[in-house]
Amino acid sequence: MIAETIRLIESELAGKAKLIAVTKTKPVSLLQEAYDAGCKRFGENKVQEMVDKQPQLPADVEWHLIGHLQSNKVKYIAPFVTLIHSVDSLKLLQEINKQAAKQNRIIDCLLQIYIADEETKFGLSPAEAEMLLRAPELNDLSNIRLIGLMGLATNTDNEGQIRQEFRGLKQLFDKLAEIQSPYVQFHELSMGMSSDYRIALEEGSTMVRVGSAIFGNRN
Ligand SMILES: *Cc1c(COP(=O)(O)O)cnc(C)c1O
Repeated sequence: MIAETIRLIESELAGKAKLIAVTKTKPVSLLQEAYDAGCKRFGENKVQEMVDKQPQLPADVEWHLIGHLQSNKVKYIAPFVTLIHSVDSLKLLQEINKQAAKQNRIIDCLLQIYIADEETKFGLSPAEAEMLLRAPELNDLSNIRLIGLMGLATNTDNEGQIRQEFRGLKQLFDKLAEIQSPYVQFHELSMGMSSDYRIALEEGSTMVRVGSAIFGNRN
C-alpha cells in the first residue's frame, strides 16, 4: 500500500520535485516500509522524535526538519540533519552555524515564509526575508547555506487561493535568488503537502512534503 502510493506520487512528480515523506507521529516500522520502497527522505516536525528515529533507520536516510525549531534544540540534530526547512530568524541561523561548525558540517537551510491567510503559521514576511538575506552578519556564517524558501498555503478548499499563495512564493523565490552572497545559493522551493502538492508542483515547487496521503491520517 505505502510502496504503491509512493510510486504513484513519484510518477506525478516526474523528477521535477523531490518527495519528502512526512513521518511525524508514525512508527519506525512504517518509515522502514517507505525506505524499502525507495523513499529515503523523511520530514519530521519535532526534534525529539527525529532524534529518536534517526538511529533506527539506515544511515543514508535524509532527515528534513519541517517544524518550528528552537535555538536550544539545534545541537541535537546538528550531527545528522540534511535540511532545515523552517528557519525564521538570524538568531536561529547563527545557532545552526555554531552547532554545524562543532560537527565540522555545513547545514543547508530554507527560510520559512509566511504566505497563508491564517494567524497561526510561523514564518517571515517577504520584506523580513529580504532583510535577513542582506544582513552583513550572514557573511560570518560559513557553516550554513541558505538554499531556498519554504511555505505553507492556507488550509482551504479554495484552490484559486492556494495557487495564488504558491505563485507569490515562487515570485519571491525568483527575486531573492538574485541576491549575491557567499552562503546564499537558492535552488530549492519547498511547497505542497498532501492536499495541495499537485498545485504546488504546477507553480514551481522543487520539494513536496507529503504525509497523510502516504501513511494515512494522524490521530
Ligand atoms: C505535517 C506537515 C506536512 C504534511 O502534511 P500532510 O497533510 O500530512 O501531507 C507538511 N509540511 C509541514 C510543515 C507539516 O508540519
